[in-house]
Amino acid sequence: MGAMNRAARLLELQEYDLALERIAAQLAEISRRLGESAEVAAARAAFEQAKARVTALERQRQDLDFQVQQVRAKREREEQRLYGGEVRQPKEIEHLQREVESLRRRTLDLQDRELAVMAELEEAEAALAAARAALASAEQRWQEEQATLRRQQAALLAQQEETQHRREAARQRVDPQDLPLYQVLRARLGGRAVARIERGVCAACRVSLPEREIQKARTSPAMVTCSNCGRILAASA
Ligand SMILES: [Zn+2]
Repeated sequence: MGAMNRAARLLELQEYDLALERIAAQLAEISRRLGESAEVAAARAAFEQAKARVTALERQRQDLDFQVQQVRAKREREEQRLYGGEVRQPKEIEHLQREVESLRRRTLDLQDRELAVMAELEEAEAALAAARAALASAEQRWQEEQATLRRQQAALLAQQEETQHRREAARQRVDPQDLPLYQVLRARLGGRAVARIERGVCAACRVSLPEREIQKARTSPAMVTCSNCGRILAASA
């Protein structure tokens, strides 16, 4: 087998090796994205926060309501004492009147606060409904994306298997003595051990090759490497 032919077979093998590396990188990216859902996690956190706010406001409203009832009951007891005729001392009557008035003001104050909380609660409930809808659509988008990713993954796995078969066939066509150099150069030169000569230029490093180097690559029984980047030179297809 001539040197040029040997280089061409290595180049063919390299194309499958590079294709397999691309497929592996795409599969790794897909596995990274499968199951991951930063968007859904953020939407769920926002939903939980909105729900917690509604719960807290509801509790506040119930507390205020309870206080209103208690103060009102106390005022009614005091009013009964005041108007029931059992209290006769003017000082005590005056004291009770002030107490009733104070309880009435306190009820009004509590009711104002309750109204404010109810208004806040209404806003919080609207925000919760929006957060729930956002979470649902984020989950739906995520599920659709996951389905797409799984389809891409299946296609890539099939492509990987086929490329592996072709790569194995290409490897069998390669002169076994050339494999160690090919592996060493691939490891050293970013996966590209072989470069085509294209219009007198090394296709990998873009350096113009001297005519005698090209001639040597064509005629020498040994494989010739690019004097600039060190890759095995193959004739252009
Ligand atoms: Zn080169």
